[in-house]
Amino acid sequence: MRKLIFAATLLLLLQACASSRPARTPLDEHAEDYVRLALALGEHDSDWVDAYYGPPEWREAVKSEKKSLSAIEEAAVLLYATVEQTPVPADRMLALRRNYLLEQLRAVTTKSRLLQGQKLSFDEESELLYGVAAPAREDAFFEEALQALEKELPGPGPLGERVEAYRKRFYIPADKLDAVFRAALQECRARTLRHVTLPKGEQFTVEYVTDKPWSGYNWYKGNYTSVIQVNTDLPMSISRAIDLACHEGYPGHHAYNALLEKNLVRDRGWVEYTVYPLNSPQSMIAEGTGNYGIEVAFPGKQRMEFERDVLFPLAGLDPAEGERFWRVTELSAKLGYASTEVSRRYLDGKMTRDEAQRWLERYGLVTAKRAAQQLDFTDRYRSYVINYTLGRDLVRSWVEQSGRGWDAFLELLTSPMLPSALTSSR
Ligand SMILES: [Zn+2]
Repeated sequence: MRKLIFAATLLLLLQACASSRPARTPLDEHAEDYVRLALALGEHDSDWVDAYYGPPEWREAVKSEKKSLSAIEEAAVLLYATVEQTPVPADRMLALRRNYLLEQLRAVTTKSRLLQGQKLSFDEESELLYGVAAPAREDAFFEEALQALEKELPGPGPLGERVEAYRKRFYIPADKLDAVFRAALQECRARTLRHVTLPKGEQFTVEYVTDKPWSGYNWYKGNYTSVIQVNTDLPMSISRAIDLACHEGYPGHHAYNALLEKNLVRDRGWVEYTVYPLNSPQSMIAEGTGNYGIEVAFPGKQRMEFERDVLFPLAGLDPAEGERFWRVTELSAKLGYASTEVSRRYLDGKMTRDEAQRWLERYGLVTAKRAAQQLDFTDRYRSYVINYTLGRDLVRSWVEQSGRGWDAFLELLTSPMLPSALTSSR
């Protein structure tokens, strides 16, 4: 109910904003059509609309209209052509807005075709949905990272078992999880606020859930509010507290969504940002800023120091092991690319699920249970996985090349930039 009242208020606000602004432009009209199409597609796939806080009657309208997938596809192709015919505005933000609509519409078309049974390779799907394909990595890349871990944790028996036994020592005890996660969130928020002015009243709630194919999720509700869910199916390593707090909270998804709502939806009246379609180029920026945001908030050794000095004692862990644990975590991070690699091979039919499971246990160095969770994610979200590592790499290199640190990062959180803007020469 509260959500309805809020949505109605937002509609009034959008209308009020609109009345104090110049007349609606063709892009405003096209943006509204795009939102309606994105919502219509959401009726065919429950994961597609990750967040929507625009006028509730638009959603009600698509529910009663029940547009077929082929009709959505046709309308998206037509709308793409219409937007393409509009002149490229001289103003950079408006040009980015026009480009945003085009690229997001390409994702709407692609998703509607996939739902109608079209078959694409992993890379074709990545390119059409997210605007970029992930570079392939040979097994040798992972072998190298495994050898470095071998040196860090020598001993008898398989490396996987040694690493797992070592990692187990750093699991957060269940009764300490909430205290540790809240401390991590508080620190991530404080570090973000030193560089970013967040909208007044922004807030979040934390929920602990089970039986999900992901480890954490941010559900943005509009009105600067998020629900952050943490999956407790598997034990959480102390290193995941900062990962999740920055990624889902600050300066990641919660901050990103709140800033988009403030700067683009409320200040400019750009309705297209009231809907967030999951399988779209915007996810590359969302996941990329979510993951690179960890390094922005904790540059250099600051993360290790905070974990060792604050989170380890809170979790009842031995701070003396902090530095080695940090090195092992850093080396393990390279293995993160294994998720993309295994998803590509598995979805392209080059591996069965059993083979993928064994490959992931070996090269991703994860337990059988965690490998199974990752493959459940692949079954459900397919090539989405590239957004985490490739998104982080693209955002990192763009921010670092700019030499503007937090300012460049903030630009990504407050503008309609998509991966194409990160990869094109500036
Ligand atoms: Zn995320």
